[in-house]
Amino acid sequence: MARYLGPQCRLCRAEGVKLFLKGERCNTGKCPIKKRRGKPGKGPRARMKKLSDYGIQLREKQKVKRIYNMLEKQFKLTFFKAERLKGITGENLIILLERRLDNIVYRMHFASSRNQARQLVSHGLVKINGRRVNIASFIVKEGDEIELKEKAKKMTFVKESLKEYSRSGVSPWLEVDPDKVWGRVTTIPRRNDITDLQDINEQLIVELYSK
Ligand code: SF4
Repeated sequence: MARYLGPQCRLCRAEGVKLFLKGERCNTGKCPIKKRRGKPGKGPRARMKKLSDYGIQLREKQKVKRIYNMLEKQFKLTFFKAERLKGITGENLIILLERRLDNIVYRMHFASSRNQARQLVSHGLVKINGRRVNIASFIVKEGDEIELKEKAKKMTFVKESLKEYSRSGVSPWLEVDPDKVWGRVTTIPRRNDITDLQDINEQLIVELYSK
């Protein structure tokens, strides 16, 4: 599946906020957002530009799209899926994104970023309920059990990523056994469970696509 292959920090700089696209590595002093570097290819004045309503909606969509490491077509398809579900479309969208297999692998700390998690999935190193699944956009269900293949469990970056489990634990809707590199989706998340996206206003994305 197609994905953005350019520098991750450039995407954060374009949005002017930390999107934590490199996972734990974003907490180092090297983050250009922390150093207050401006938008890529633009001078400091670019930060002061006032956005139109459309611009605000567009930026919000771009932020979410970049956080989940998606291209426009995939993202829009997920939005249409969210629209067809019962409930509030914006919340459905965030929950569907959260249920993507690459995101779950990242949330379980089997990888230190969504990008790394996607590589694990696309290389066929992730199993759901004992069966190999190599589709990053696969939507997990309640009760699904996620495990890495034996080969992947021994990888240094997987072991490094799992150290984060002892530091920060896991989302309340997931259960992880770090020794077995195994996890289960105990329940489908609610919008409020996705605390690191609290500042995102998904309604702006709904307004953008409803034009
Ligand atoms: Fe974004 Fe992380 Fe780069 Fe900072 S270090 S700009 S948060 S990807």
